[in-house]
Amino acid sequence: MEYYKPKTAGEAVSLKTDSRMYIAGGTDLGVLLSEFMVQPEALIDLTGIDELCGVFKVDEGVAIGACTGISLIAESELLPACLVEGAKAIGSPQIRNMATIGGNICNASPCGDTLTPLVVLEAVFIIEGDSGERRVKIEDFFIGPKRTCMSPEEILKIIIIPSRSPDQKSGFRMIGKRNGQAISQVNAAVSAVITGGIIKDIRIAAGSVAPVPLRLKKTEDVVRGKALGSNFLERMKDTAEQEVSPISDVRAAEEYRRKVAGSLLESIFRAMRKEAV
Ligand SMILES: Cc1cc2nc3c(=O)[nH]c(=O)nc-3n(C[C@H](O)[C@H](O)[C@H](O)COP(=O)(O)OP(=O)(O)OC[C@H]3O[C@@H](n4cnc5c(N)ncnc54)[C@H](O)[C@@H]3O)c2cc1C
Repeated sequence: MEYYKPKTAGEAVSLKTDSRMYIAGGTDLGVLLSEFMVQPEALIDLTGIDELCGVFKVDEGVAIGACTGISLIAESELLPACLVEGAKAIGSPQIRNMATIGGNICNASPCGDTLTPLVVLEAVFIIEGDSGERRVKIEDFFIGPKRTCMSPEEILKIIIIPSRSPDQKSGFRMIGKRNGQAISQVNAAVSAVITGGIIKDIRIAAGSVAPVPLRLKKTEDVVRGKALGSNFLERMKDTAEQEVSPISDVRAAEEYRRKVAGSLLESIFRAMRKEAV
């Protein structure tokens, strides 16, 4: 098999053909290659492209290069807590050292652990293809399990996390069959602006409960405007359990996923209450 390591995004795009595949950390693609589920003639390694690496401040917030390692995300002080916690939940140290955030996003698994954090942070993706660069909001990016709006030659370059209010709090929870190396049965993330103890701006998402990471807008309506310490948790859980639309599969049953989605959100809000005391 041929192997290319371009130095620029443009060079990578120009090398792409139907029989060549992009690779970053290879932790998802390696599984498919070893099982002969994909048989590309060549791999185009994106990790040599400098502009795709690192976490840095920009005017509109924080920019993350798509080839930034999950370990780096898990240690970053520039990024919101929910994304840091989502990164820490991935695999094992070995997997986190190889895996990239762009690979997690482009693999588009409904259970990807950085995806619900990115949904509640309203991330924007900068993508490059044959006809230049374009920006896509995360809500328009995922179109089904393992499917995104990107065309085959396009690469994800940068993830923008828009600026936050200083009052913004966020959290992430996942549940899997064991602590390390287990793919999420359900995960959930919350981002909230809490001013004077009142939840002003709220974004809630759950993963592995629908074909794509799911924003829970009805659940947000229950929480918005409430005092953080007030009695909204039961109604919030009931609404979340109704709003998700999971399936039963080898990892978990539908009913279990509904219940766990509500409980994970409850756990995030309880932690926010503790922190506020
Ligand atoms: C043992 C094990 C445990 C795991 N545990 C977890 C877990 O707990 N949580 C979790 O979310 N995931 C988990 N994963 C999945 C995987 O590690 C992550 O999805 C990882 O972030 C993928 O990143 P990568 O760089 O390795 O992607 P790669 O395997 O290199 O690529 C994945 C896909 O994305 C494409 N791609 C990669 N980067 C780009 C780009 N910049 N532009 C366009 N296309 C691109 C590739 O062509 C490929 O189709 C696990 C995997 C293994 C093997």
